[in-house]
Amino acid sequence: MNQIVNISEIRKQIAGKSVLDQLDHLASIFNGRILFTTSFGIEDQVITDFIFENNLPVKVVTLDTGRLFPETYKVFSETIRKYGKKIDVYFPDHEAVEKMVTEKGPFSFYYSKENRIECCRYRKVVPLNRALENKDCWISGIRASQSDNRGQMEQLEYDDSRKLLKFYPLYDWTFEKVESFIKENEIPYNILHDKGFVSIGCEPCTRAIKEGEDFRAGRWWWETNGTKECGCHVK
Ligand code: SF4
Repeated sequence: MNQIVNISEIRKQIAGKSVLDQLDHLASIFNGRILFTTSFGIEDQVITDFIFENNLPVKVVTLDTGRLFPETYKVFSETIRKYGKKIDVYFPDHEAVEKMVTEKGPFSFYYSKENRIECCRYRKVVPLNRALENKDCWISGIRASQSDNRGQMEQLEYDDSRKLLKFYPLYDWTFEKVESFIKENEIPYNILHDKGFVSIGCEPCTRAIKEGEDFRAGRWWWETNGTKECGCHVK
C-alpha cells in the first residue's frame, strides 16, 4: 500500500459518518484498489446491498472453497439476479487440493488442527491472497461481537502481513440490527440463518449453535482451543 495514505487521517475523515458515506469515501480514496469479500453471510449481504444499490466502485468477490452449502450457492444466485451485478469467484489451486485430498482423504480437517489449517490455507487463504493482489483496501463483514478475537480489532486497521487497510463497515452493529436491515430492505439471505446457523462457512465445518453458545461456536466445533478463524482474519 502507498504509505502516503495515513490511517489516522482516514479514521478522522470517516468518524461519525454513515456506513454508506464511509464506503463511498474509501471507494474514492482507493479507486480501483478496493475489494469486498463476501461469503454470503447475513452481514455480507448488508454490505453487498450498500455497494450494489449505490453503484459504489468496489470490486465484490467470493471464495468458492468447493465445500460450501447448497443454500450458500442459492443466495449467491439470488444476489446477482436481484442486483444485476457481477461477483468475481476465486477457486483454490486444483493441484494443491487434489494432492491434499488424494493423500489425506476428504475429511482430513477433522483429524488434526494442522490438517484443518492446511485445508483452509489451500481453499481460502491462498485464493484470498490472489484476490487481494494490487489492492490497498479490503472490506469485510466482521463485527466486534462475533468473538473475543474480533472484538480486539479496530473498525479500520492496517494488515501488516498483507500491507493493506482492512475496513469493517458493520463493526459496531449488533446481530439484531443486521437482521432488521435485511428484513426491512428485502435482501436475500442464507436460509440456514433461520435454522440456528449464525456464522456460515464450509458445510463440513459449520453447524448450528445452541442457545447461549458463542457466535463462532458452530465453526470447527471439534477444536477446543485457539481462535475460530480460517487464517484470513487472524491478527
Ligand atoms: Fe477446509 Fe473446513 Fe477450512 Fe473449508 S472450513 S477450507 S472444508 S477446513
